[in-house]
Amino acid sequence: MKVAKRFRWEGAHRLPWHTGGCQNLHGHSYQMWVELKGEADGQGMLIDFKDIKKVLSPLINAWDHAVLVADSDHELLQAISILKSKHFILPFDTTSENLCEFIVNFLAAQALDLLEQHKVSSINVRLQETETCYAEHEVTVLALRLKKKEFENPEVVKS
Ligand SMILES: [Zn+2]
Repeated sequence: MKVAKRFRWEGAHRLPWHTGGCQNLHGHSYQMWVELKGEADGQGMLIDFKDIKKVLSPLINAWDHAVLVADSDHELLQAISILKSKHFILPFDTTSENLCEFIVNFLAAQALDLLEQHKVSSINVRLQETETCYAEHEVTVLALRLKKKEFENPEVVKS
């Protein structure tokens, strides 16, 4: 069984190293599909969409009508500070691929227990920048749990 919820927001960004146009500050009407796979429970439900919305809404609200900016983009950070623009600083370049991975990790950090309780087996995030292109990142809940354990107990990795 697969269930999906769509989110949308308006955001600005740029890729300073790009030479094909994306180096200019520009905006997207971002659309995101969050797909969850697993078995429906006895009542015929995998997970309540409302619970997923509750987890992701703070992030979407923080990104809506904001400039998504890489912490390495000092010129844009300076411009944002002059303009006093709403912004969200990220530790990576704001490509769709990186944003997609960030959202999966955000969801895991906020709701891994919830996903496990509902026996969700995998998460797929599809982030659409424009009408004609998207990036997609799929990961199993088990892989996210193992990654979280490594992060919480780094000595496990060393031994
Ligand atoms: Zn763009």
